[in-house]
Amino acid sequence: MMNGKPVRQRSAALYERAGRVLAGGVSSDARRGPGVPLYVDRAAGARLWDVDGTEYVDYVLAQGPMLLGHSAPAVVDAVAAQLGRGQAYAAQHPLEVEAAELVCRLVPGADLVRFNTVGSEAVIGAWRIARGATGRQKILKFEGHYHGWLDAALWSLHPAVDAAGPVDSPVPVPGTGGQQRSSAGDLVIAPWNDAETLTALMAAHGTEIAAIVMEPVLCNTGCIAPVPGFLDTVRELCRSYGCLLIFDEVITGFRLAAGGAQEYLGVTPDLAVYGKAIAGGLPVAAIAGRREVMDVVTRGEVGHAGTFNSNPLGMAAAVGNLTAIERDRDTIYPHLYRLGGRLMAGIREAAAQAGVPMLVDGPGPVFQTYLTPAAAVRDYRDFAATDRAGMGVLHRELLARGVNVVPRGLWFLSAAHTDDDVDRTLEVVADALRALRGQVA
Ligand code: PLP
Repeated sequence: MMNGKPVRQRSAALYERAGRVLAGGVSSDARRGPGVPLYVDRAAGARLWDVDGTEYVDYVLAQGPMLLGHSAPAVVDAVAAQLGRGQAYAAQHPLEVEAAELVCRLVPGADLVRFNTVGSEAVIGAWRIARGATGRQKILKFEGHYHGWLDAALWSLHPAVDAAGPVDSPVPVPGTGGQQRSSAGDLVIAPWNDAETLTALMAAHGTEIAAIVMEPVLCNTGCIAPVPGFLDTVRELCRSYGCLLIFDEVITGFRLAAGGAQEYLGVTPDLAVYGKAIAGGLPVAAIAGRREVMDVVTRGEVGHAGTFNSNPLGMAAAVGNLTAIERDRDTIYPHLYRLGGRLMAGIREAAAQAGVPMLVDGPGPVFQTYLTPAAAVRDYRDFAATDRAGMGVLHRELLARGVNVVPRGLWFLSAAHTDDDVDRTLEVVADALRALRGQVA
């Protein structure tokens, strides 16, 4: 220990080696520093251990997937049982039928399913299906919503506000260098939670729009639920302009409820995309939707493919995970909401005591801590005005004390978290907030 913080020598040595063979030393930009990233040795339940032997209470949960916790027996046993029977077939097998049946039972709007490997490709698949079903090209996307890292989708995620256009007519801003710029022409960008502007944008573009896509509870820019009435407006606009509604449930799916945001919000979209929590940590994604829409795939009018689609290890994990969710939903979700509520209330109290202006908001199974004196964050522009650099500092203070949260301040709960974890976390939060105030003061 140095200055009360663990010295992570093995992690530092690995990072140094990694820098010589992995571009930027990591395999995803989401894992870039500052500083030495976490090098995980193993994970079980709500805990991670790094290669230096430091234990962490984990609220990152692999960016969301580990709803039952790490190494959950329901997933581990199912994968172990499949492992010796073959790892990839690129052919049909019984587990994919079982997994699709589970999705259709759990998700209100799922009549038909197609599996993919990751969320980013499933999003693009859903957009293609929507275009095929409507004969239109454009997608309306909300500022601040993340739909994967591929060229067509990585627009206006966290743009510089001075480059993003007026709040009531945002312009598409690319998310990276090297991005195919022509895909911007197929997008209309709208501010989240602004029914009036959405209505005006639809009046201008509605007849060209194949689908409105959204994170139904926005989790990649704070954690922002739709304001009352907003989804009613969206539904009505979709109906009157004949375009489809797509929920990107890559985070919210199987997390906000067994039936995801559809169940939580009581709104059934035409298509939905799943990833993350569908298979308890194995790479599986899915497009699920209404029969008449998905039938463009059934009839072979819209193509969909992938070598690893419905791979047997992923399907075994999905069946194990979703079977546990279906069986235990009456205990899992009340637990997630209760613990999430306790944690959120405790963090608010700790912030008030430390004199740090903080807003804590979200449903509970996932929530956001913002450094801001504002009473509410309703859209990307509000989020951009919060102290994001300060949140990065708080993240590092928490990590140094054994609590792992998503650096931008997002927290995920799992069925494996306990009241003891929350007690321990709240002590750490109080200490980290005092340290943060010391740095800001
Ligand atoms: N959609 C949402 C809402 C996401 O949060 C993510 C990933 O974080 C994606 C799509 C992309 O999924 P993947 O990282 O599996 O490609």
